[in-house]
Amino acid sequence: MASFSELIERVKNNIVETDPDTVRELQVSNPTTRIIDVRERDEFVEGHIEGAEFIPRGLLDLKIENTIPDKDQPIVLYCAGGTRSALAAKTLSELGYNDVKSMAGGFTAWKRSGHPVHIPKTLNQEQLNRYSRHLLIPEVGEKGQSKLLDAKVLMLGAGGLGSPAAMYLAAAGVGKIGIIDSDVVDRSNLQRQILHTDDRVGEPKVDSAEKTINALNPDVEVVKYQQWLTSDNVLDIFEDWDVVVDGGDNFATRYLINDACVHLGIPNVHGSVFRFEGQVTSFIAGDGPCYRCLYPEPPPPELAPSCQEAGVLGVLPGIIGLLQAIEVIKIVADIGEPLNGRLLTFDGLKSEFRQLRLRRDPACEVCAEDATFNGFIDYEVFCSVG
Ligand SMILES: [Zn+2]
Repeated sequence: MASFSELIERVKNNIVETDPDTVRELQVSNPTTRIIDVRERDEFVEGHIEGAEFIPRGLLDLKIENTIPDKDQPIVLYCAGGTRSALAAKTLSELGYNDVKSMAGGFTAWKRSGHPVHIPKTLNQEQLNRYSRHLLIPEVGEKGQSKLLDAKVLMLGAGGLGSPAAMYLAAAGVGKIGIIDSDVVDRSNLQRQILHTDDRVGEPKVDSAEKTINALNPDVEVVKYQQWLTSDNVLDIFEDWDVVVDGGDNFATRYLINDACVHLGIPNVHGSVFRFEGQVTSFIAGDGPCYRCLYPEPPPPELAPSCQEAGVLGVLPGIIGLLQAIEVIKIVADIGEPLNGRLLTFDGLKSEFRQLRLRRDPACEVCAEDATFNGFIDYEVFCSVG
């Protein structure tokens, strides 16, 4: 009977070993190489190789064929010191994987060589529980949830669109939510602006929004801007945020948001509603059109409906706002296909979704390759739909 060290010795003679420097070179020269961390979860969350995937050795044979169906895929396995990954490499070669290497010295040697290490935001017990339904989705998982917790999402307006979007983004665990809204809660808002409650009529909307969000999820930090967005403050405010959700109800703000997002390279998730109809799209600077590619200038004020005239079925902004929330989650977690270059419209009376292709205008004054930034324009404030 062989001792454990004899067994390891024999295994190591029958697998291919590599070293941290070679793995690092491979990572840069051949980014399709899959690097798999076979340690236990508590070891992985304390730090791992940047870009590594986590499959603990105990689950490797169960999970590998779903994770990597191609048996010719180059794979590097590592553990803490190189023993578990050697055993794991033997398992994978028995399963028919042809290009498997075990990193000698493991993560300890990797760190000692000074190669990049990723220390993930660790989810505490309460978060593992709160977000368990996200953690069960492979596309989100702990990695996606950490991205959400790290994300900073700015809502333009705590109104009809901003309310459902902010509530679900807060519930989803977006770590930081900014809200720009200069208004106070009015009873006529409550038919759709579900962040607010009847007993908060007269309170600033940003305060009411903060109360609702924090009651729902204490993980979320709310940053309040009880002010109008103007050409003077837009850059200062936008600079700190990853994604902007345009739930505004007027053209002046819509153009300002567009121009600032293009200028700063921030994705802008746009929604609007009118009576029974709504639409949503994502403007991602450099990857699809911007709002001005579609409408270079706002319409004259007399052609736009006033805020009071523009009625809306209360449920409708709920649907459109939640589509905006899904867009934000895809953009933040880097999954799926955001609606850049596509406009999704919804007709509530017919219960019908339609999709229109949107094209970038190569001569767009704001987002064209050769466009020069000439500052922001303050249009006269008048309402659009919503
Ligand atoms: Zn454009």
